[in-house]
Amino acid sequence: MVAEIICVGTELLLGDIVNTNAQFLSRELAELGVTVLHQHVVGDNPDRLRALVQEAKGRSDLLVFSGGLGPTADDLTKETVAQAFGDTLRFDEAEWQKIVAFFARTGRAPTQNNRKQAMVPVRGRKLPNAHGTAPGAWFEDEAGHAAALLPGVPREMKAMWAEDVRPLLEARQNCTIRSMTLRVLGGESSIASKVAPLFESANPTAAIYCKVGESEIRVTARAATAAEAEAACRARVAEFQKILGDSAYDVDVPGLAHTVVRLLRERGLQAATAESCTGGLVAQLLTEVPGASEVFGYGFVTYAAAAKTRLLGVDPALIDRYNVVSAPVAAAMARGALAASGAGLSVALTGLAGPGGALPGKPVGTVYLAGADARSGRVQVMRLDLGGYRDRGVIRQRAALYALDLLRRMALGLPMEGAVTLKPGQPAPEL
Ligand code: ATP
Ligand code: MG
Repeated sequence: MVAEIICVGTELLLGDIVNTNAQFLSRELAELGVTVLHQHVVGDNPDRLRALVQEAKGRSDLLVFSGGLGPTADDLTKETVAQAFGDTLRFDEAEWQKIVAFFARTGRAPTQNNRKQAMVPVRGRKLPNAHGTAPGAWFEDEAGHAAALLPGVPREMKAMWAEDVRPLLEARQNCTIRSMTLRVLGGESSIASKVAPLFESANPTAAIYCKVGESEIRVTARAATAAEAEAACRARVAEFQKILGDSAYDVDVPGLAHTVVRLLRERGLQAATAESCTGGLVAQLLTEVPGASEVFGYGFVTYAAAAKTRLLGVDPALIDRYNVVSAPVAAAMARGALAASGAGLSVALTGLAGPGGALPGKPVGTVYLAGADARSGRVQVMRLDLGGYRDRGVIRQRAALYALDLLRRMALGLPMEGAVTLKPGQPAPEL
């Protein structure tokens, strides 16, 4: 099957938004074994859209659209595609009631324009929108060409894809697909070199995607039944995990904070954070996870030296002697956060995110990370050298990721590479 992706929206042409939908759809179609030969972006212009649909339909079996399902007069995608596929639209009372209810829930009233969104294919089928107002549409013509119309809003598009379009295409391709995403701390090159042979297999396939401080390995299996695809996927993920060890931290989670919150919850632990150079980023990442309140109650942002003393009880003499950016201060912050919060675990960060402010022997990117464990009274402290990234944002993000990893490792009782462990009361060395 050959497909083309057509993203509708003038804001895409103007560069106001990044076309992440095309990336998502291309990846998904490739996993289904569908060949994508073209990706298009077209403005909200019916004539140009019509011409493009004719051209694309002439050479491809499947057209996947995103965007243009909105209520405004220039959202004409549905009408245009219906015409090209010899279909018409009808008003759907049930969809209209959903739209009315959606507006009521958000304290607004629909306009006459919104009625357009309740128009659905007569011969084709409507695709329910679980996360928004406008339903999508599926058209087919006699020659077997098909078109899927999805919303532009990425969250709505992805849900509709997974729930409706992908199953339709799986049926056409006579197979089921299952993907799992393994998340691994560390850069793509260091990971890829360890597991290179696993990337060569044709089924399941595996692809690696680099993120800040971590990578995603997406494993996709194709099989006749869902159970077989699932089993093949699981087995391949297990092979990756075996080689990558504890740097592979979870499967099918949005990020490390989710794993940390789950682990803390499973172990009945509370965590506290004490942050300087990350300004609350670790706390933000933790609280982005639904249910974080069960495991996280105190996040101290102690940017000034005085704040470290007042909120965390860090001895000013320690700061005078070693500087705020130092291992002894990080350790004292972590201990102070435990004392002030009553939590079982804490992490603390103090460092130089730059671009200015380098100290002798401590260039920009020097960050001290400490973690304290009330159960053992032990503190782990380490120096991170993140200056090579030369970017304040990246230094902060990487430092926050290390802090989350330290929380994870403390919760699991795993060692943290590069950290020095201090006994209760033992002062931290300079690192
Ligand atoms: P609406 O009912 O909100 O008008 P729509 O289906 O008409 O939805 P658009 O108006 O095209 O969709 O896009 C809505 C929003 O979705 C855009 O403002 C943009 O933020 C996002 N979006 C649209 N297309 C894409 C895309 N290709 N990639 C990423 N985001 C997109
Ligand atoms: Mg729109």
